[in-house]
Amino acid sequence: MKVIQHLNSAKGSLLSFEILPPLKGKDINSIYAGIDPLLEFKPSFINVTYHREEVLYKERGHGLLQKIRLRKRPGTVGICAMIKAKYNIDTVPHLICGGFSKEDTEDALIELNFLGIDNVLALRGDAIKSEPQFIPERDGHVHAEDLIRQIAGLNKGKYLYEEQEEAAPTDLCVGAACYPEKHPEALNLSTDIAYLKRKVDAGAEYLVTQMFFDNQKYFDFVARCRAEGITVPIIPGLKPLTNRKHIAFIPKTFHLDLPVAFSNELGKCRNDEEVKQVGIEWGIHQSKELLAANVPCLHFYTMGRSEAVRSILEKVR
Ligand code: FAD
Repeated sequence: MKVIQHLNSAKGSLLSFEILPPLKGKDINSIYAGIDPLLEFKPSFINVTYHREEVLYKERGHGLLQKIRLRKRPGTVGICAMIKAKYNIDTVPHLICGGFSKEDTEDALIELNFLGIDNVLALRGDAIKSEPQFIPERDGHVHAEDLIRQIAGLNKGKYLYEEQEEAAPTDLCVGAACYPEKHPEALNLSTDIAYLKRKVDAGAEYLVTQMFFDNQKYFDFVARCRAEGITVPIIPGLKPLTNRKHIAFIPKTFHLDLPVAFSNELGKCRNDEEVKQVGIEWGIHQSKELLAANVPCLHFYTMGRSEAVRSILEKVR
């Protein structure tokens, strides 16, 4: 079932999770271990992230460096198919522009369609570490908007090169990303929302936010989107902070603020366990307020670790 059908038929706020494929060489059990403890909360759908290849340089002696392209977390589509088969839960594979030509994208969409996967979250992807800015593949998409347009085209039977009569259309529900505290590269929130509107006009049927810790930023963002004519559901994305590394890493990496009340509590923590407790309490506070505001769905970035999310949900569901 499509995410938009779940959202449109819901009686209250839904619940969804996002997981990462395991690192190459790890087995599938880590995925089960991340999903199993959350099943009782009845997630409507589970997102699976996509990770493009990275470039590594390996020392080969005599000063020689070998350039290796490595995809550290393969398996997005396989995991989606497994979740549908094993748990009968709808899945949302993430699809990115980076590393994909338009033809690669078309082939990936055909594969999703054949597997009976009804959804896709269309993203640009970030620059790989060895590049100063995002560089699209030759004949690839530059922005998520272009990728969304291709998916919407295929949903109408528009393939890239074939002038096929009666070409079989796909039927994928497309979601896209949005940023209550603006995307790091955006000049300001106004331009970011203007581009967001273009993604919706191109065919995105719902949006999922970047994580945020200040609910007011989400409420203000939704109000600005509505004022700009973006009417699709905007799903808040939540991530519990669970260790001291997160405190330094998350605001910097995702360009977001921690509210003063939250950072004051985090400042008192002496170890990871205390940070985790504060992170869970903050997650409970955020979730309760968002549920009271009748958000369409609570989307948790579990990153494969379900313990903190479970502790939050036990208090709010
Ligand atoms: P875009 O919508 O293309 O926007 C990127 C920037 O370009 C923004 O600053 C925007 O304002 C601007 N822009 C947008 N459209 C245009 C246009 N037409 N012309 C000029 N400028 C434009 N990354 C992964 O690699 N894998 C994942 O699985 C993944 N999952 C994610 C899930 C969510 C919910 C979110 C919020 C992010 C995720 N990301 C993922 C990260 C995402 O790929 C990065 O944030 C990336 O930098 C931007 O992706 P986007 O789809 O928002 O890009």
